[in-house]
Amino acid sequence: MQEMKCTVCGGTNNRQLDFLPSYGKYNLMECNECGLKYIVSENFETLDDDSYWDEVNKKIYSMPNVLNEFKKKQNKYLKRMIKLSPPNKRLLDVGCGNGIFLNNAKLNGFEAAGIEPSRIAVDLCKQQYGFSPTLGYLELDSDLEKNFGALSAWDVIEHVADPKDFLKICHAHLVKGGVFILETPDESSWIRGLINIIDSVKKMLKIGAASNIYYPSHRYYFTHKAMKSVLKNAGFTNIKIYKEHTIYSKAIAKNRLYRKFTNFQMLKYYVVFFLLRAPFLWNKQVVICVKK
Ligand SMILES: [Zn+2]
Repeated sequence: MQEMKCTVCGGTNNRQLDFLPSYGKYNLMECNECGLKYIVSENFETLDDDSYWDEVNKKIYSMPNVLNEFKKKQNKYLKRMIKLSPPNKRLLDVGCGNGIFLNNAKLNGFEAAGIEPSRIAVDLCKQQYGFSPTLGYLELDSDLEKNFGALSAWDVIEHVADPKDFLKICHAHLVKGGVFILETPDESSWIRGLINIIDSVKKMLKIGAASNIYYPSHRYYFTHKAMKSVLKNAGFTNIKIYKEHTIYSKAIAKNRLYRKFTNFQMLKYYVVFFLLRAPFLWNKQVVICVKK
């Protein structure tokens, strides 16, 4: 294999991990400098794929208990963003999906606009919350104004082709002092570390398959060190990283609707997700920072 360079820090000391047993054509790499993990492949899925918004996901994203969990989590961060006194209340949500965050941002006093590559999601956004997001990807020469006081990207950076380019584009759409918030899986989390240790042992003893915590739709897995480094280089300051949980009511609904589990089978998930709600097992990071 040719010498790999870490996209985030440029480090050349990278090694190949093989925790991707079910995806032969994808290589999982780790940068020994900043701890970033990334997947190398010839072919990746694209984000404008509408298949995510099938009838099941449409249903999940309109369930009252799921929306309530989103609201609680997002309100907490909207308050933290407001405390940083964004220069204006114009907010751009990149990859806004069906508009849950746009709606919560609006309820917190923001003038919210969105951009989203899936046409189905854009239509849902209109129907469910009355927003009209721009269809497409955020680009440097987009038709959108570049005067936003706040910008958000929930669970987007792990999907993009180049995080540095992505952050450069986000940065360009903010005014000076603008607040940026993003969420992504937390490679520094204790639970992901533990799963990796278990997988290494399994591999050594040749027992069982590795757990699926890396998959091709997520191309980048950031440690806190990698996250701080990439944001600093993109021109952000005051970087604060918060540990967060996944929306578990969404995960439970997914198991119920996709896999049609019986109540007894679901019990296992209730127990697992109940345990995962303990803050020391949280596996996501939410990052808030400011444009210099
Ligand atoms: Zn690196």
